[in-house]
Amino acid sequence: MLKFALAGNPNSGKTTLFNALTGSTAHVGNWPGVTVDKREGVYRKLEEPVGIVDLPGIYSLSPYTPEEVVSRNYIIDEKPDCVINIVDATNLERNLYLTTQIMEIDVPIVVALNMIDAVKKAGDKIDIEKLEKEIGLPVVEISALRDEGIALLMERAYAAAKKPREGKTVLQDSMLSHVIDDVRIALKSKNVPSPLFHSVKLTEGDELEMSAHPEEVKMVEDFKNQCKGDVFEGDLEAMIADARYKYITAHYSTAITRTPNRAAAGSYKADKVLTHRIWGIPCFLVILFAMFHLSFGTDLLYLNTIAGWFNGGAGFARDIETGNELLNSFVAVFYSADGIATPGTMLFNLMGFVCDRIGEGIAAGLENVGAAAWAQGLVNDGIWSGLSGVLSFIPQILFLFLLISILEDSGYMARVAFILDRVFRKFGLSGRALIPMIMGFGCSVPAAINTRTLIDEKERIMTCRVIPFFTCGAKAPILAAVCGAIGSVYTGVNADLLVFALYVFGMVIAVLSVALMRQTTMRGEAAPFIMELPAYHLPQARNLMAHLWDKLKHYIKKAFTIIVASAIVIWFLSNFAWNWTMVGIEDSILYDIGSFVQWICTPMGFGLQLQGFGWVFVVAAVTGLIAKENVVATLYVLAYAIKAVVPEWDDGESGIGVVVALMQSTGITWQGLIAFTVFNMLTVPCLAAAATVRAETPKGKFRNTLAFWFITSFVTSSLLYCMLSWWWTVLIVAAAIAIVVAFFVLRNRGKIRFSRKNKKNAMNE
Ligand code: GDP
Ligand code: MG
Repeated sequence: MLKFALAGNPNSGKTTLFNALTGSTAHVGNWPGVTVDKREGVYRKLEEPVGIVDLPGIYSLSPYTPEEVVSRNYIIDEKPDCVINIVDATNLERNLYLTTQIMEIDVPIVVALNMIDAVKKAGDKIDIEKLEKEIGLPVVEISALRDEGIALLMERAYAAAKKPREGKTVLQDSMLSHVIDDVRIALKSKNVPSPLFHSVKLTEGDELEMSAHPEEVKMVEDFKNQCKGDVFEGDLEAMIADARYKYITAHYSTAITRTPNRAAAGSYKADKVLTHRIWGIPCFLVILFAMFHLSFGTDLLYLNTIAGWFNGGAGFARDIETGNELLNSFVAVFYSADGIATPGTMLFNLMGFVCDRIGEGIAAGLENVGAAAWAQGLVNDGIWSGLSGVLSFIPQILFLFLLISILEDSGYMARVAFILDRVFRKFGLSGRALIPMIMGFGCSVPAAINTRTLIDEKERIMTCRVIPFFTCGAKAPILAAVCGAIGSVYTGVNADLLVFALYVFGMVIAVLSVALMRQTTMRGEAAPFIMELPAYHLPQARNLMAHLWDKLKHYIKKAFTIIVASAIVIWFLSNFAWNWTMVGIEDSILYDIGSFVQWICTPMGFGLQLQGFGWVFVVAAVTGLIAKENVVATLYVLAYAIKAVVPEWDDGESGIGVVVALMQSTGITWQGLIAFTVFNMLTVPCLAAAATVRAETPKGKFRNTLAFWFITSFVTSSLLYCMLSWWWTVLIVAAAIAIVVAFFVLRNRGKIRFSRKNKKNAMNE
């Protein structure tokens, strides 16, 4: 099968094209570095099927980061039949810089001028024929997003693949041409493939090449010595880069006619506020809060609360009583005494309503066929309650993801990395590391894989460690359930505000952890961060749907495998005694095990002080190590088991109400619930995430990472519990923190001159 490789700058639309060609739904993000490994698919609309390989984005063929190595090695070693070089036409010159390098390889190439829709919209014109003549390669205008020009592109690529092509360079007119040519001839006589490409790289001083061809290095050294004293001081790499850009400006830029760019001007205006030194972060927090409000709030736009201000405390909202029980609970999906439900809450209520009906149906069905009591218990209270516990949160969490995806696709998330860079840099982490962290809001697994884009090993380790502190989609149900319970029966603080506070708290702990690691085990400075901010654009429905569909599949798959299996195990352990007879929960295996370990959690507020109920939370947290959805699923399963032994239980409860009743009957305080949530957020992540982090960090570091997660979560949530429960402990904690900070400051004082000097040098460079 023929193989075509997609190569281009980050964010030029490679993955979008890949998806359009192969019908897959790989993650497309409007920021650089989303694709970190190559990905393969098949295009079937030509005479024969063609393999398509999506490569990570690269700015040049002199690789610096691991994902750049992937791209370079693929093109050079695997010899694709054609390279489709994707060029972001809205950024023509910079993208063509890579083109001038790829064309030096002996491989057929087609240039795909992508985002031509955006170019046209901005009112610019590109003279394709002229450009094609100047570049000397086939050039095809496409819009990967709108599926335009793709068939033609593939036809031309197919035609190109049939003819061998010899590399050529734009450096032939420069003063380097002789040395490049001499090296090329020398390499060619040794039958090195793509001699021109290797010759140029060798001249640039690429380390990989120098060690591969030591003899030719001398020819380059001689030339270098001749050049000492000119503008570049014999820095051939800079000389070559300069020659490339000069060539691009002289020959390629003439093909484009620009009109003053309106869209970019709009971006610029928005960025004046959104990335402002001072206003950037408040804007981010407001946007974040709006997101959580729409997903988790129970009072849309706080209308009911605001009405209350004018109305002596009572808003307009009432519970509606229609006389029909079913109708009542249906109406409550949209409107209740709290106010009008926000879209996310509405989805949650609706799904809860549906799940309750399904549960009733299943229970009635089992009753009808006369199933044994234990079987009824297993299905109703074990499998279904665990499963529905997860299912009922899915629409709400998907809604949250929709909002996150919109922010990502619009280009705002790239700005978030940029504004947070200012904060994180002070603590020793660069903005580049923030991209995987922000991806962690979705799922820690792809986020940890994305850390491959980081050059610095220490930075990679630290990032992997704090990624779980960016609350992922599987932990969101824990926050939703706990904050909902606290909001409705404990304190009256709004759930959306609490969820928001906890998300931010996770980020703050991430910053502090990095700062602490930079002072202790991971000393060093943040790598410089250069990212080009992508232009804002309207999020694309197809993209958003692809994201959501991926997430939905992931959730459903997990729910019907891991979650069901765990629910069954938990049900058995909570309904059977050691001698395998069915018993009440207080004699069960789980009770014994849980009670044995629950004392550990006493400092966090869900241990011994709950008088025999602390283990409920301990068990939930432990099952969360398999998958974080399990935490809530386990609470659902245990709620039904405990219902039997709590006399004052309100039997009318269903769905999430049962879990809230469970929390109340354990006697846990709201402070304990918060500590419980924080513990789950910060502790060892799920199995999949932990395994990924293990694979992505150097050998031998993982044990420390595990310890780091456990200790951080334990200490943080214990302190939080104490501070929330007894205000005066704040003073002790503050004093302890002050002592630690003072210690590090005093220790660093001795070196302050040294580090300043370093900084100055770095700036001069
Ligand atoms: P990659 O990093 O090269 O894989 O780029 P992606 O495929 O992830 O796309 C980067 C961004 O460019 C996404 O936000 C896409 O929606 C957007 N994009 C891709 N192709 C086009 C196009 O033809 N027109 C426009 N306007 N945007 C595009
Ligand atoms: Mg990509």
